[in-house]
Amino acid sequence: MNFADSDVLSAILSPRYEPTSDYKQADLILVNTCSIRDHAEQRVLNRLREFTALKKRRSGLYVGVVGCMAERMKDELLEEALQIDLVVGPDAYRQIPVLLDQLSTGGGKGMDVNLSTEETYHDIVPLRATENKVSAFVSIMRGCQNFCAYCVVPYTRGAERSRPFDSIIDEARALFEQGYREVTLLGQNVNSYHYQDVGFARLMASVAEIDPRLRVRFATSHPKDLSDELLATMAAYPNICRAIHLPVQSGSDTMLKRMNRKYTRDHYLQRVAAIRAALPDVSLSTDLIAGFCGETEAEHQDTLSLMREVEFDSAFMFKYSDRPGTFAHRHYQDDISEEVKTARLNEIIALQTELSLKCNQKYVGRTMEVLVEGLSEKRGKQYIGRNTQNKVVLFEPTGAEIKPGTYVQVNVKRCSAVTLLGDLV
Ligand code: SAM
Ligand code: SF4
Repeated sequence: MNFADSDVLSAILSPRYEPTSDYKQADLILVNTCSIRDHAEQRVLNRLREFTALKKRRSGLYVGVVGCMAERMKDELLEEALQIDLVVGPDAYRQIPVLLDQLSTGGGKGMDVNLSTEETYHDIVPLRATENKVSAFVSIMRGCQNFCAYCVVPYTRGAERSRPFDSIIDEARALFEQGYREVTLLGQNVNSYHYQDVGFARLMASVAEIDPRLRVRFATSHPKDLSDELLATMAAYPNICRAIHLPVQSGSDTMLKRMNRKYTRDHYLQRVAAIRAALPDVSLSTDLIAGFCGETEAEHQDTLSLMREVEFDSAFMFKYSDRPGTFAHRHYQDDISEEVKTARLNEIIALQTELSLKCNQKYVGRTMEVLVEGLSEKRGKQYIGRNTQNKVVLFEPTGAEIKPGTYVQVNVKRCSAVTLLGDLV
């Protein structure tokens, strides 16, 4: 989401600034921030100290904090020690040029942290700064009002709102015409997208109909809202990718209730069964939190048993981090020690590594379509791409150059828990 927002910011700033790859040369540095865990915020604060030191050496340099941390911390960030000039929340990016004018005419530091119930930046064409011209994020909604007990997002990003249907289709079509071959539709809870009479399944179908060579992905689905209609739409369009990210957070009913996730373990497992019935070759990934408030050893074991039952292809796994302002912060005790959180997270990671390897082994010997993204940075001469299940596939070049955005067939010979390795067919 922040990558997509940074591209919107680049577009807003483009009449006055051009991007530089060397921040030491910059006239303006905006740090786009995440508040989801304390660790992310600490890293930003360290970075800001670095920029404050740079400011002392370079007069005329402005430093701003944008995104969720700006929204959460507000004027705390303007304290003198950090020398921040701008603090702008996720719904106020259009105000940045005005605040910059204020700064340059001696009007002082600028802050706008107003949240909106309507802003979707639908009319701003993001200026995509990424090197990869194959795959792009397209924001389809903003905000969230699920209020999971642990989560800061509803407070920093405001109420849920959907972007106008036509503006999404126009952006996706323009990307395809520029040579992009994959779009990922983004929102905190994409299944609740609705604009006038268009729901998420119809939106997906319309994006898929732009061209069969355009792959369509989405993130993130909430298990309480993933509909059979969406599964039927996915099954009907081969270019809607066979990958679903369905965060479960915990395998324990008591824990899910404390987290205010609004589904049970059984409901989650039934959704997984429906997904696999509709899309037998689908890959499933999830998010898991270790050591949420009051988590007992038995509740932790429920998470491990659910992981074994579902056999996730991959997972994002986190230690619970207490976030000021959330329901959990106000009503529960962050009572699981750091040692226990770490031990439980390590168990979860070890099990997931085993499961990921097992899932990937099923692909060895199979030939599959891979969308080439380019040459792998880490592996020098190998090409890197993804299959429809969103698995990273590496293969050796054989003669003629393959352009990013080309579809090729690859026969998988080997795998690790994170990649498939094969030969071009
Ligand atoms: N909207 C998505 C959903 O509900 O599935 C997830 C959005 S959140 C940005 C990404 C993940 O961060 C969550 O699924 C959760 O696992 C994790 N997360 C959120 N708040 C957290 C917290 N306080 N501590 C640890 N992990 C957290
Ligand atoms: Fe946070 Fe829950 Fe909203 Fe996801 S659905 S962003 S975890 S409150």
